[in-house]
Amino acid sequence: MADKPDGWGLCKDCKWWQIEPDASVQDLTLGVCIEKQLQDYELRISGLGGCNRFQAGEPTFAAGASEAPPQMATDIH
Ligand code: SF4
Repeated sequence: MADKPDGWGLCKDCKWWQIEPDASVQDLTLGVCIEKQLQDYELRISGLGGCNRFQAGEPTFAAGASEAPPQMATDIH
């Protein structure tokens, strides 16, 4: 596998990933990306997703994060 570009990381390791309150951090867990520039896309994405807006940290938890379309709580920005 090629090296990851600088700044790229997985959703399951990213602080902008928001998942259901009772969800665990797994590859196939679905959540919503609440990164400021990506919020408008209402991006529902699994733990194996990733991008170069990655910020290392723990996911946040909010009800509705796995719905289609996902609901997001954005008061952490
Ligand atoms: S899409 Fe990017 S910014 Fe959003 S949760 Fe995944 S890695 Fe983080």
